[in-house]
Amino acid sequence: MSATRPSAHLSAGAGRPLVSVVVPCFDEEAVIRGTHRRLSAVLRRLPECEYEVVYVDDGSRDGTWDRLTALAGTDARVRLVRLTRNFGHQPAVLAGLREAAGDAVVTIDADLQDPPELIADMVERWRAGWPVVTARRTGRQGESRFKTTTALVFYRLLAAVADHPVGVDTGDFRLLDRAVVRTLALLPECELYLRGSVCWTGFPETSLEYGRLPRPAGRTKYTLRKMAGLSRRGLLACSSAPARVPAVVGLTWLGGTAMTSAVRRRPLPLAAWTFGCEAVLLGVLGEYLLLVHREVRGRPPYVVLQRTGAGGGAVPAGLVTGETAGSAR
Ligand code: UDP
Ligand code: MG
Repeated sequence: MSATRPSAHLSAGAGRPLVSVVVPCFDEEAVIRGTHRRLSAVLRRLPECEYEVVYVDDGSRDGTWDRLTALAGTDARVRLVRLTRNFGHQPAVLAGLREAAGDAVVTIDADLQDPPELIADMVERWRAGWPVVTARRTGRQGESRFKTTTALVFYRLLAAVADHPVGVDTGDFRLLDRAVVRTLALLPECELYLRGSVCWTGFPETSLEYGRLPRPAGRTKYTLRKMAGLSRRGLLACSSAPARVPAVVGLTWLGGTAMTSAVRRRPLPLAAWTFGCEAVLLGVLGEYLLLVHREVRGRPPYVVLQRTGAGGGAVPAGLVTGETAGSAR
């Protein structure tokens, strides 16, 4: 998905910008050293940039933490966050985003299924003025037919019913400008579907295409249950459609019942009307649930792309501290 290119960098000021890379890890002892080697090789070559790598250990039960502390002992650019238990991929990524200090922050999986080499292109696009650079998957090697098919269907279904535009075939391999990270970090919600939240912020986005590679070692940590949970959260977070299904069914049913009655010139049995009325009443409750959901989630009603202060000086875009939902209202 792409929008008009913004005219200026949001956060890359003069001097050498800092690029952070956030890597969520859950039981990744088999791959983590190789991943760090490859990531570092790419990051060292970024022209005129400083970098840091923030590894988030999401409650690993294997030797991941020991390997990470060993890496931090030899590489001053490594920062570590360890969660108390396994909270899941999305909370781990958010923890990393909140910890990262970069002007731009890249999020990438620990298992090298997403090629770190693409980060150089992402940074280039960011320096050209894009606040969000997403990596779009054009193929998925080494993944089961079940996973590729369900992903294909889910992303298209979500795009069709979402309240705001959402990316298709994009995971959490992307670059975010500091303004976007600041905005995400301030959202108070805990039912996370970050790729939807990024689209919701509305910052201009461009995408790069890549083929997803097989895992070099270890097994997927996204169990069927975790995948189903992510899809459910995505659907409920990005779309009002599920809550509106009863109203649509009820009104259609009542319309059909009324038309059939008119054509036959006699009223249909009471049960036919009752079903339609019940569905419409459920639809009314659905509207209230949507309202409560929006209020409880506490997202602000708008996000600022650019401001100028007195004298035309730039003021940070996105949400700024103290400007969470309550005060932005
Ligand atoms: N991950 C995590 N917590 C979890 C599950 C996964 O931090 O509960 C991390 C995992 O270590 C990896 C990334 O999230 O870096 C994606 O997980 P995985 O590769 O298992 O998912 P898949 O690519 O198979 O969808
Ligand atoms: Mg993976």
